[in-house]
Amino acid sequence: MQRERNPMDTSPAALDVLVVGAGISGLSTAFGLTRRGLSVEVLDSGARPGGVIGTIEHEGALYETGPNSALDTTPRIGELIEAAGVAAERLPASQVADTRFVVKGGRPVALPMSPGAFLATPLFSPLAKARLALEPFIRRQPADEEETIAHFVRRRLGREFLDYAIEPFVAGIYAGDPERLSVPAAFPKLHALEQRYGSLIVGAILGARERRKRAETAKNTAKSFSFRGGMQTLTDALARAVGRVTLEARVVSVSRLSDGSFVVVFDKDGETLTRHARAVVLAVPAGEAARLAYPLVPEATLALQEIEYPAVLSVATAYRREDVTHPLDGFGFLAPRVEHRAVLGTLFSSSMFPGRAPDGQVLLTSFLGGRRNPELALAGDEAIVAKVEAEHRSLLGVRAPALWNAVTRWPRAIPQYGPGHLGRIAKLAQAEQDIPGLKFCANYRGGVSVGDCIANAHATAESLGAWLEVPVTA
Ligand SMILES: Cc1cc2nc3c(=O)[nH]c(=O)nc-3n(C[C@H](O)[C@H](O)[C@H](O)COP(=O)(O)OP(=O)(O)OC[C@H]3O[C@@H](n4cnc5c(N)ncnc54)[C@H](O)[C@@H]3O)c2cc1C
Repeated sequence: MQRERNPMDTSPAALDVLVVGAGISGLSTAFGLTRRGLSVEVLDSGARPGGVIGTIEHEGALYETGPNSALDTTPRIGELIEAAGVAAERLPASQVADTRFVVKGGRPVALPMSPGAFLATPLFSPLAKARLALEPFIRRQPADEEETIAHFVRRRLGREFLDYAIEPFVAGIYAGDPERLSVPAAFPKLHALEQRYGSLIVGAILGARERRKRAETAKNTAKSFSFRGGMQTLTDALARAVGRVTLEARVVSVSRLSDGSFVVVFDKDGETLTRHARAVVLAVPAGEAARLAYPLVPEATLALQEIEYPAVLSVATAYRREDVTHPLDGFGFLAPRVEHRAVLGTLFSSSMFPGRAPDGQVLLTSFLGGRRNPELALAGDEAIVAKVEAEHRSLLGVRAPALWNAVTRWPRAIPQYGPGHLGRIAKLAQAEQDIPGLKFCANYRGGVSVGDCIANAHATAESLGAWLEVPVTA
């Protein structure tokens, strides 16, 4: 079949796939397609690849502007790291990082990791602990009734578990509000446990056996990792392996020719350029994907526009070790809403991985804003840093001002999988059926974690690769 060529197409030759967005989703998809021998180019509006993944060296320290680590939940992650040639750079989180703290009564309390520690922990009252025994007897919610995570946890585990276990974790993962996140969309495994086993406790025990068979690891037991040079090591390696990654290239439109191929128009260095490709992957945030796909699939893009992204601020802070009283012997602390702290949580970054702070110093990374405190996104850096240091003085016994702070702002940080989310994603899947060769692959679909993005990118590359390799018949 002879393909029609757009007269504006300035690319030397048509590509198999044009990927829009060089975050972990776009780069992993492009990498998978490149390895199948397909010709691929990635366009990104940013000045470096990686999207929200970014590592910065500052005053002898190494801090992350986005994710500080990833969880090793699926074999896809290890496969990708190996294939990208950075397995030797990978660093497991230190053992102390197995301890996670939750703030209660103005101090960090270690989350219990064993039945004995659970019985002894001051995090939950004796009544809340006793109520857990009832969990297996609570009836399951009808499968077609969508519940928020807050409603789900209050119903199955009780209020205290919502306040001191689930709400802070939801703030830590989604920067979200459990009253506004859907269980089947945001926590599909939790939803499946209830539906399948009628109980989270019974399901956790039986489900572990099945995961072992699939070589998967639950998020609560999976190990965290990063790289010697930080998280950006992976995205940099992927970009190098893909080769054709064009930066500072803002895609402004995607259209489809009568032969089913695509024309992508982008701005770069004041010029308007085009590319011609057999398939297009939109690996950009939902609002951008909606804008670009609107002429092709208007109904699905209305669904995309409904996905909200709260703002998050990430603050790296260095102290002299001797100025911090707390041993920092853990992953970090999360601060529940009911404790009324300014931060959502603080990671003990230099306790998790070596090389994060110079000798004699510690590096902490704090997160603020989210659904809980959206007004903080408007505060200036000085006010933000003052709040962070005040929390560290109060919760970690810091006795002197920080050596330095670095604030990173994410005005639209993390997509919220709210009620109705699965219906929205079903519309996207339908759009992909209607327009073969068009794919949506980013963190608003299939999970927000780095590992989820990698697994979803793998699936996208597999299905698109299989479709593209189908010989074109006249
Ligand atoms: C502060 C923060 C902390 C996090 N912490 C963790 C963590 O500890 N562990 C974990 O697993 N996950 C964490 N996450 C989540 C995880 O990092 C993200 O969900 C994931 O990296 C998103 O990848 P992505 O490729 O889907 O999107 P993005 O990284 O957002 O990439 C999208 C890309 O599209 C580009 N783009 C947008 N519009 C256009 C356009 N018109 N033309 C061209 N390019 C365009 C952007 O420049 C960007 O590079 C965190 C997220 C944030 C924000």
